[in-house]
Amino acid sequence: MNPASRVDILIVGAGPAGLTLALALADSGHTMAVVDAGEPERAACDPRVLALSHGSRLMFGRLGIWGRFPATPITEIHVSQQAGFGRTLIRADELHVPALGYVASAGRIAEALRIALEAKGVRPSYATRSVPDADTASGQVRVVGPAGETTLEARLVVHAEGGAGTGTEAGQVSVRDYRQHAIVTDIEPARRHGGRAWERFTPGGPVALLPFGERYSLVYTCASTEVDACLGSSESAFIERVEAHLAGRLRFVGTGARQAFPLAMRRRRQPVSGRHVWLGNAAQTLHPVAGQGFNLALRDIAVLTECLVRERELDGPMPGLLRDFARARRVDRLGAQVATDGLARLFILPGRLAASMRGFGLLALDLCPSMRGMLAGRAMFGLCART
Ligand SMILES: Cc1cc2nc3c(=O)[nH]c(=O)nc-3n(C[C@H](O)[C@H](O)[C@H](O)COP(=O)(O)OP(=O)(O)OC[C@H]3O[C@@H](n4cnc5c(N)ncnc54)[C@H](O)[C@@H]3O)c2cc1C
Repeated sequence: MNPASRVDILIVGAGPAGLTLALALADSGHTMAVVDAGEPERAACDPRVLALSHGSRLMFGRLGIWGRFPATPITEIHVSQQAGFGRTLIRADELHVPALGYVASAGRIAEALRIALEAKGVRPSYATRSVPDADTASGQVRVVGPAGETTLEARLVVHAEGGAGTGTEAGQVSVRDYRQHAIVTDIEPARRHGGRAWERFTPGGPVALLPFGERYSLVYTCASTEVDACLGSSESAFIERVEAHLAGRLRFVGTGARQAFPLAMRRRRQPVSGRHVWLGNAAQTLHPVAGQGFNLALRDIAVLTECLVRERELDGPMPGLLRDFARARRVDRLGAQVATDGLARLFILPGRLAASMRGFGLLALDLCPSMRGMLAGRAMFGLCART
């Protein structure tokens, strides 16, 4: 950790969000410390696989790490529902972009970010937990690590500690438990995927297949009551289950290890307070249905970086800077939260009427290229100016 007991910016959490912000600020002239409660190997082994939007790819390009981790382009997305009619196909060539998005391992992204950051002389301190002062007007943070406990004074404390940091202060965080789990694994298709991703809405939740190397990365959502059966079933029984959900459109020949993540939306009512700002999963944890969590975090990071680079001296009135940041990010954030939550709930609504309405929605999308373009544009760049 930075030996000074006073820094301009303390970033709590060296997951993908905290590391990206640290790299974006590495040349800003602000002094910085990054602490993480885990080990670097843990972040590098993160089993999540992320669909990165075109906007996120551009941002990683600017940070100089695009190409430092493997990424598979998505050239088409096939969307359908199990409980009724309707399907649509969104194609990159129709939208005149090289790819609709890219699929990469969260662990490999974190590793590439950490290496780039260390090359700029910023070394995160691992196995080090932060305990911020309850008074957010103060930038004082107790930092507990292998070398004991110290108090760090920061002009700005950035919380990027993931979902762990969002459940503690009553009243600050709203939670919607979807009573679903995402089972995550990789799965080998019998035929080449050709860059096509699949999103299939089922009564138990969405099933997403993302092209990842030669295989697919699978996010299989199920009711929480079924999670043990999904994790405990044999490889062939699990493959059968996935194939049945896809109505035989795809066949698979093998899967990797399965891991389960409980799904809830956790939304911090105020992403800024005093000298503190919350980013990434610490600000909002979203259902993975639209693959928006990390992409949204990157858009937050781009705007926060702009504000902090503009403000050379952080002695100034922090609330003003943070208020500007919160105001600039309000619409995009709210849009992603509402859209993701709506999608997660709309497609599990039971009944023929709901299935028909969804079917007509998918049909309309299929018949109307401009609607598909608008939807894909939102997914690629969010509700903000294209960067
Ligand atoms: C199944 C699944 C699929 C997903 N797919 C996508 C997708 O396709 N696209 C997308 O954009 N998003 C996706 N997401 C969301 C994405 O994974 C998250 O948005 C992103 O990983 C959040 O990163 P983060 O750095 O905010 O948090 P985390 O990755 O949780 O990192 C938090 C870090 O903080 C550390 N920490 C915790 N407490 C403390 C403390 N007190 N002091 C110090 N350090 C601490 C932890 O050790 C950890 O390293 C998906 C999520 C899931 C569950």
